[in-house]
Amino acid sequence: MKKPAYKRVILKLSGEALKGKKEFGIDEEIIEEIAERIKKLHQYEVEVSIVVGGGNFWRGRSGKGMDRTTADYMGMLATVINALALQDALENNGILTRVQTAIEMRQIAEPYIRRKAVRHLEKGRVVIFAAGTGNPFFSTDTTAALRAAEIEAEVVLLAKKGVDGVYDSDPSMNPEAQKFDNLNYKDILNLELGVMDSTAASLCMDNKIPIIVFGIEDADNIVRVVMGENIGTKLI
Ligand code: UDP
Repeated sequence: MKKPAYKRVILKLSGEALKGKKEFGIDEEIIEEIAERIKKLHQYEVEVSIVVGGGNFWRGRSGKGMDRTTADYMGMLATVINALALQDALENNGILTRVQTAIEMRQIAEPYIRRKAVRHLEKGRVVIFAAGTGNPFFSTDTTAALRAAEIEAEVVLLAKKGVDGVYDSDPSMNPEAQKFDNLNYKDILNLELGVMDSTAASLCMDNKIPIIVFGIEDADNIVRVVMGENIGTKLI
């Protein structure tokens, strides 16, 4: 059997990735496709944890005239909806999961407890981290960086919809845009490439955690990237 390149990973799924072709909300077929690929990782005995975004429902910046913190809490709640949908799809595929939320809601999910999360992973359960960091003014990319440092994941897999890596300019605007295979965190911060927020990038830089940015239009990429194929852009 082929050997995966990583033993413990954090997969960051944006809300956009779960929306599929829909304008809004969740595309169940897409979630099913993702769940099947996570099952494969599981068969390779990779410890998988997932951070989900909420942009398919709501982002803090959607609330134009709103108090920012209220709008951000709404965004965090949106991630919980996605986490439950993902849990449902994974369990339908026979994978044991736990949702841990950074904002307590006991009837729905466990609270985030680092030691418990690690124990679940060791026991072969997929852990889905919901409600971001639990704090306004942060993003779920930053959550992925933070949880990766906390649970000692070897890599953050940043699955993107609509783009398959980091480019020197926006490929949807500039047909000549060049994709980077590897990129240094300092470059990400200096060039302001907009691929992720600076908090997430600096957290990974400080903790020496690589991030691989890759496209999720083809769900098989989730497996490819964990098996060590050079797809997307690796940030180190
Ligand atoms: N959010 C937050 N704190 C966090 C994580 C998320 O306030 O630690 C809020 C923020 O408003 C954000 C929204 O939740 O816009 C949804 O998360 P994000 O935009 O990262 O989702 P994605 O773009 O990945 O779908």
